[in-house]
Amino acid sequence: MKILIVEDETKIGDYLKQGLSEAGFVVDLTRNGLDGHHLAMTESYDLIILDVMLPDVDGWRILQSLREADKSVPVLFLTARDSVEDRVKGLELGADDYLVKPFAFAELLARVRTLLRRGAVPTTDTTLRVADLELDLIRHRVTRGKRRIPLTAKEFALLELLMRRQGEVLPRSLIASQVWDMNFDSDTNVIDVAIRRVRAKIDDGFDTHLIHTVRGMGYTLDATDEA
Ligand code: CA
Repeated sequence: MKILIVEDETKIGDYLKQGLSEAGFVVDLTRNGLDGHHLAMTESYDLIILDVMLPDVDGWRILQSLREADKSVPVLFLTARDSVEDRVKGLELGADDYLVKPFAFAELLARVRTLLRRGAVPTTDTTLRVADLELDLIRHRVTRGKRRIPLTAKEFALLELLMRRQGEVLPRSLIASQVWDMNFDSDTNVIDVAIRRVRAKIDDGFDTHLIHTVRGMGYTLDATDEA
């Protein structure tokens, strides 16, 4: 899951980037509205966190451009001004949620997860399921059958991506950009190693294998076991 943060206050931007990276997201941070506008309009993100007060192009303008271009990416805006008009304006312009500064990181993370669920899965369910594999997005917990499976933040993000797009063959380049902030040219061995680790955790000891290698193409998570 890839998130763009547009925030000119250095401290807040760094703090958000670090926290969200540690939670397993791929994060782009920009400190000005001009770059923020450009990235929001040209790159593909699962969520955008937008500060309203920016020195050049403000958050409202970025939000407006996105919605005018029919880009439905969820937008969470941050505002220092706790005024009703601001909130109403943001929501009218098409923001999905807002937070008033200062806020606790835990609250931001909870809002981010809610928005991502809303955006990517057409259900209010907080759990992704494939066969007997379950991924709890709220508690960050994975179980298969009755077995609890401990995963690192990156492994969790990788499994979440595979589960959300079950049955699709995901090329390494896509996995690299969505889970790691890497380009295709980077060392894709990292992906193979992580896949191997996740696979060992969720498939070893079970009759049905869920993660499959599609030779020359990538990986897929599918309950139809061809092995
Ligand atoms: Ca600001």
